Amino acid sequence: MKIKVGQAILELVEGDITRQDTEAIVNAANEQLRVGGGVDGAINRAGGPKIQEEARKIGHCPTGRAVLTTGGNLMAKYVIHTVGPIYRGGTSGEPELLASAYRESLKLASAKGIKSLAFPSVSTGVYGYPVADAARIALGTVKEYLAQHPEIELVRFVLFGKPTYDAYAQVLDELSRG
Ligand code: ADP
Repeated sequence: MKIKVGQAILELVEGDITRQDTEAIVNAANEQLRVGGGVDGAINRAGGPKIQEEARKIGHCPTGRAVLTTGGNLMAKYVIHTVGPIYRGGTSGEPELLASAYRESLKLASAKGIKSLAFPSVSTGVYGYPVADAARIALGTVKEYLAQHPEIELVRFVLFGKPTYDAYAQVLDELSRG
């Protein structure tokens, strides 16, 4: 499923983010930038040790921010590591932090001249963010950014499994009507 936001494309696919040909892929990292499980483990396995070498030098990334490393052996030239919030019921600033994680990743892409990037569903795995709520924040934040930043041409959400894809598709459908 895809929509246009100005000249940019915002699309959803079900699949594996490590296999994307966008200039950058986004990792759902932890603050220590240490290899974890989930999408982080998959990206480091597929991209090889160069990614972790650079991440180790950077050392730390606060929740809601983003940093950039090489893409190593991936098709993507860069990995943008962002740290989403751990879900603690939704009243500890999680919505703002999740929106910030997406916005800061996009800002980093703009600053580096990256025109195409792929996001996973940040925070909805081990960090426990309810998928429908996270999808609304993710897609709303990206849509708003694209409307204001024509330098980004393509944002692709790569959703792991049909339930996550379906949750995002429902929200994008609502957003494209409104
Ligand atoms: P977090 O700690 O931010 O919750 P996780 O990696 O645990 O991050 O999960 C984030 C999302 O990434 C989940 O929806 C999970 O199913 C998904 N995911 C796991 N592996 C991949 C992959 N190879 N490509 C895309 N998404 C993936």
